[in-house]
Amino acid sequence: MSLLNPNSPLAGIGMTSQRTRDRMVQRLRKQGIKDEAVLDAMNAIPRHIFVDEALSIRAYEDVSLPIGYGQTISQPYIVARMTEILRGERPSMGRVLEIGTGCGYQTAVLSKLSQEVYSVERISPLLMKARANLRELRTRNVKVKHADGNYGLPDLAPFDGIMVTAGASHIPDELLNQMAVGGRMVIPVGAQEQALVLVEHLPDEYRQTRLEAVKFVPLLGGTS
Ligand code: SAH
Repeated sequence: MSLLNPNSPLAGIGMTSQRTRDRMVQRLRKQGIKDEAVLDAMNAIPRHIFVDEALSIRAYEDVSLPIGYGQTISQPYIVARMTEILRGERPSMGRVLEIGTGCGYQTAVLSKLSQEVYSVERISPLLMKARANLRELRTRNVKVKHADGNYGLPDLAPFDGIMVTAGASHIPDELLNQMAVGGRMVIPVGAQEQALVLVEHLPDEYRQTRLEAVKFVPLLGGTS
């Protein structure tokens, strides 16, 4: 099924075509991703526009790739898995905060499954790239901001979902405080060994569940 106009440069050809995206989705299904809404979103979004042209033929492989400034675009499986965990079968995620925009790929996936997405990036030139990528896709429900994501976005809280896409040494209190009741957060936590942690803000507790091992670039402080 072709989801993009085949004559648009966004549609891609050969290794960046809709067929390649279809194959990526089939692979994600085999790897255990079950949430069809997540798979549909990833089928629709041209991942190759988020990487440098020289790397675009590798955009649909299940690997992370460099995006400059020492940062990476997460591998498709991790994007799918974190999105599936964050959704938790909710029909729409309402307002979502992402920490670590990078090139904006995960942001674009979240935009298909939420009412509004706010995404924070600490490296200014990366943020500008992400903004251009998201504009190319005509994404309308996303706002990206240059800030240190350790503090979240207190003026825009509470959020129904918070996704941190860089490895944290601990879960920042500021982010816990910005979760709506019923909200969910997924965050890679750990110094040497990182694991995904799901936090659910229940009426009377923050329930934490440790999930699979992962490898992310570190969540740093300050902006540049
Ligand atoms: N979401 C991206 C992943 C990008 S890698 C994707 O779709 O592939 C993680 C990003 O987190 C990097 O761009 C890095 O600069 C950013 N980052 C690290 N620490 C941060 C912080 N404190 N605040 C905001 N962004 C941060």
